[in-house]
Amino acid sequence: MIIIPKKDYDKSQLDNLVHWLEDKGLQVHQSKGENMTVLGLIGDTSKIDIDLIRSLDVVEDVKRIQEPFKNANRKFHPEDTVVDVNGAKIGGGNFQFIAGPCSVESEEQIIGIAKAVKAAGANLLRGGAFKPRTSPYAFQGLRGEGIRLLLEAKKETGLPIVTEIMDISQLPLFEEVDVLQVGARNMQNFELLKELGKLRKPILLKRGMSSTLQELVMSAEYIMAGGNTQVILCERGIRTFETSTRNTLDLCAVSVLKQMSHLPVVIDPSHATGYAKYVRPMSLAAAAAGADGLIIEVHNDPQHALCDGQQSITPEAFASLAENVKAILPYAAKRGEV
Ligand code: PEP
Ligand code: MN
Repeated sequence: MIIIPKKDYDKSQLDNLVHWLEDKGLQVHQSKGENMTVLGLIGDTSKIDIDLIRSLDVVEDVKRIQEPFKNANRKFHPEDTVVDVNGAKIGGGNFQFIAGPCSVESEEQIIGIAKAVKAAGANLLRGGAFKPRTSPYAFQGLRGEGIRLLLEAKKETGLPIVTEIMDISQLPLFEEVDVLQVGARNMQNFELLKELGKLRKPILLKRGMSSTLQELVMSAEYIMAGGNTQVILCERGIRTFETSTRNTLDLCAVSVLKQMSHLPVVIDPSHATGYAKYVRPMSLAAAAAGADGLIIEVHNDPQHALCDGQQSITPEAFASLAENVKAILPYAAKRGEV
């Protein structure tokens, strides 16, 4: 349920209403935007008399929310959420490039790529330390050592780091990590999501390869239900009958997610397409569609990359892509435009 107070509401009257609702065992989330304030109620609202609340002096309107997601719901929080990663803002009109290799391979590799992507306009560095590989015989990542090297690269460049956590047991190693990535394969690892909800740090939540957008938002809800509001949604392609690309990029997800939720949405054209040659066109398209950022795999020597070389672009290609994407941003689609 949401309650919309009158425009020039009396603060003490609203506080009284909030306390009354809290006494009834409800959680009340206040979202104060530029244009309106919304009270979002979480809990069992079935015994609340909606007509009684509507009749209060301070109240403009009351609506029941049909969707099972509350904290992540645009109706609860009409304004865009802006996730701030050490000053790099994502969402609410702020666009960021997250770039770096699929996997951290060595100190030289990660620092070299970090410097190159920074020079090309990236504000965040990605790199996998724990790698979810289809084959147990494939490179599994440098694990704790990989995180140490990412932190070295951060020290050298100042770029905040984004890296994937695969299991709760790894959490102590992520203390200094700026953004924790939940990969497609873990989008519904609910115990992990609950644990991440206890943190007060940004989480980049990737869409599962066979998950609906509502399921993605419900996973964000798991994190937010714990009090962590800094969630970035990521579309990275889904499984379809099409085999000419690694996955099928669902670009409409940008428009749909922004309708459903206030959380920022970034696109991963690398995993979505699986081929370096498709990363540029899909990046331009994602920016035009109104995405809040791109997460792109960049490697200094894609042919010899230990993971996902086929879809990795060079720092030079990234630099040109970033320049062209920035040129498109002023013309990007805005939410709800017809
Ligand atoms: C990755 O970003 O390296 C990754 C494994 O992505 P996804 O979870 O989308 O497959
Ligand atoms: Mn990868």
